[in-house]
Amino acid sequence: MAQMVNERSIKIENLWFAYKSEEYVLKGISLTIDERPTAIVGQNGAGKTTFVKLLKALLKPTKGDIWIFGQNTKDTTAAKLAKTVGLVFQNPSDQIFKSKVLDEVMFGPLNVFKDKHKAYENSLRALEIVGLSDKKEEHPYDLTLSERKLLCLASVLAMEPEVIILDEPTIAQDRYSTKLISEIIQQLVSLRKFVITITHDMDFVLENFSRTIVFTDGVVISDGETEKVLSDDRALEKAHLEVPWLIKLARRIGVNYDEIKNLRV
Ligand code: ADP
Repeated sequence: MAQMVNERSIKIENLWFAYKSEEYVLKGISLTIDERPTAIVGQNGAGKTTFVKLLKALLKPTKGDIWIFGQNTKDTTAAKLAKTVGLVFQNPSDQIFKSKVLDEVMFGPLNVFKDKHKAYENSLRALEIVGLSDKKEEHPYDLTLSERKLLCLASVLAMEPEVIILDEPTIAQDRYSTKLISEIIQQLVSLRKFVITITHDMDFVLENFSRTIVFTDGVVISDGETEKVLSDDRALEKAHLEVPWLIKLARRIGVNYDEIKNLRV
């Protein structure tokens, strides 16, 4: 089906994907992703990372279609999509390959903008946003794992993509860095960027993402407003996930979640 070019949405139509023939890890997914910050949750092996690699055109659908702002991912490449979709991998070693922090951040924007000055300015700003300005001359492997993950986030931010996808951003992060990541997400959302995350951290989901999609075994078993989805014990149990502590607390003390939702520790 033809899509309007520049339409600000991601459309997934009857998406099937197999790494090996006939062994499908995604089985007929259809959904539309819009500006609402969206969390993708589910147990290990459910197909979440495969799904976001397909959104970034690192993989192509075996069957079905994905339209990113009107562009079919079958007709493009991850590099050509760089201005539209940025993917921050779960494991920094899948992303980092330069020997200096600043060079690592500048690599993407240099390719995207073909403008050294803009690439440099964007990279400095991105490093400032993630709190790594004072490490710009260091070797990425002299950074902690937490810092390397923030470096990967900076590399994506420096390209100014419309869609930012984060794969398990809070793993290996302490509370301070998790809070920083939440603030960056909220800032991106206020700039009308699409923010999509994969995570196992249900409290992080509740705090930052208004829509939650639950994957189990290559299919979507629940999709909707986060508070509703994360209050559905049956869906969460099926996906091996925990009800967030604030929702548990509300139940325990017998109040509506709305009454205590601004409570943070
Ligand atoms: P999740 O992110 O939900 O943990 P993945 O998308 O990583 O799930 O994996 C879904 C399934 O695809 C798993 O069974 C996994 O073993 C398999 N898989 C992932 N990557 C590959 C690959 N490169 N080659 C073959 N199978 C893979």
